[in-house]
Amino acid sequence: MSTQSGGSVIELFLEAARDVSVEDAAKRLGLKFTGRRHEHPQPCPHCGGTDTFAFNTVKNKWNCRAGDAGGNDGIGMAAHCEGLDLHRREGLLEACSVVLDRPVPSQAGTEDADAATARRSRLEERRRLNEARAAERAERQLDYRERERQKARSIYESAARVGRFGRLVLDYLEARGCGRIGASQWLRYASELAYWHGNDQRGRPSKLHSGPAMVAPFINADLEAIGCHITWIDLGCSPKCRPLLTDPATGEPLPIKKMRGSKKGGLIPLFGDPSAARWVGGEGIENGAAFACWESWREDTFYFAAGDLGNLAGPADPASRFAHPTLKKPDAKGALRPLMIAGPMPRPGQDPEDAMWVGEQVTELVLLADGDSERVVTAAAMARARARHARPGRAIPIVWPRPGCDFASMAAEAAKRVA
Ligand SMILES: [Zn+2]
Repeated sequence: MSTQSGGSVIELFLEAARDVSVEDAAKRLGLKFTGRRHEHPQPCPHCGGTDTFAFNTVKNKWNCRAGDAGGNDGIGMAAHCEGLDLHRREGLLEACSVVLDRPVPSQAGTEDADAATARRSRLEERRRLNEARAAERAERQLDYRERERQKARSIYESAARVGRFGRLVLDYLEARGCGRIGASQWLRYASELAYWHGNDQRGRPSKLHSGPAMVAPFINADLEAIGCHITWIDLGCSPKCRPLLTDPATGEPLPIKKMRGSKKGGLIPLFGDPSAARWVGGEGIENGAAFACWESWREDTFYFAAGDLGNLAGPADPASRFAHPTLKKPDAKGALRPLMIAGPMPRPGQDPEDAMWVGEQVTELVLLADGDSERVVTAAAMARARARHARPGRAIPIVWPRPGCDFASMAAEAAKRVA
C-alpha cells in the first residue's frame, strides 16, 4: 500500500514535468532569451560553441547542433543541458526536478542529494544573472526607443502644415493620381530634409541626399505621434515623382521612404477624423489617397495608411502557414521547395501593438489591397487583417485594384486619359 502511494507521487511528479513547455524549462534552466521573436540561439550549456544551441518558444522545440540532439519537450532539453542520462531512472527524475524546480518527492533512487541541491543553487544563480541582464537590455531598448520617438516627433513638428505652404506635397499627390487636395490636418511638408545612409570615413552618419519631403505622423490610439513617415519628392522623376537614390558602395537602389520612431500599433492618418464610423485604408499613403479621391473624399470617412502589410494585418498563426500554389525557392541543397506563406489566421494571444489600432466605434472598415504586390501573400495578409480587426457589427470589405496595378497608378492613368 505504502509503495503504491509512493509510486503515484512519483507518477504525478513525472506527469507534471511532462507538462512543462520548452519555454518554461528554458527559464528554469537559466537559458538566455536572446531572440527578438521566438527563436533563441546561444552556446550550448553542455557542448559549448557559439550559436550551436537554440530553442523556439512557439514551436516548443529545441536543438543542439554540436550534440546532434533535439526534441519538443522540456525534460529532454533539461537532460541535454545538464548532461543527464534519461535512460536511467535517476537521470530522468533529476531532469524532471530541474524543469519543475523542486526536489524529487522521495530521494530514493536519485543521485546524491547534495549534488541535486548544488545543481539547484547553480541554476538559481544562472537564472538571477539572466534576469538581471534581460532587465538591463529592456531598459536600454526603452531608452533607445524613446530617443527615436522624440527624433521622429521633432521631424514632424518642424515640418509645415500642408495648405497655404507646402504646395509641393499637394502637387506630388496630384501627380500620383490622388486629385487636388486643399489641405490636410495631418500631412506636412519639409523643404529640406536630410536622407542619411551609411557612415562616412570617421564613422559618422553620412548625408546622401537633402531635399523636399512629405512628412506624415504615426499616431497611437491617444492620437499622439509615436513616429513619422517620410517620402522624399522630386516632381521631375516620373512616374513615381521621387528622387532616385542608390547606395554609393553597391549601386543598389535605395528606398525613398523612411520611417522613424515607432510604427507598431500606430497608423498614418491621411484625411478626416479618427472618430468617424467609416475608415478606409491600406498599406501605403498614395494608394489610400488615390482611393479617397476616387470616392470624392467622403466627409464621413477617416482615411489612413498602415505603413506596411505587417502593421496592417499583424502576425500570423504559425499553424495557418501554407505552401504557395506556384512559387518555389531553392532549399539549402538547391532542391526547389514551395514557398511558405504566412497564413490567413492571426496568431493567438497577440499584443495590441502587433498591428495598427482601429477605433472601437468603427462599423465599416474598408481595407485596400495592394495589386502590385504578390497576390497570394497579399490575399492571406488581407484575410488575416479582416480576422484581426473583426468585431460584432463591423463590416470589413476588402477592395482589390486591377491585377498588377495599385489604386494610385490606376488613378494616374485615368487622369491622363481625361487630360
Ligand atoms: Zn549540446
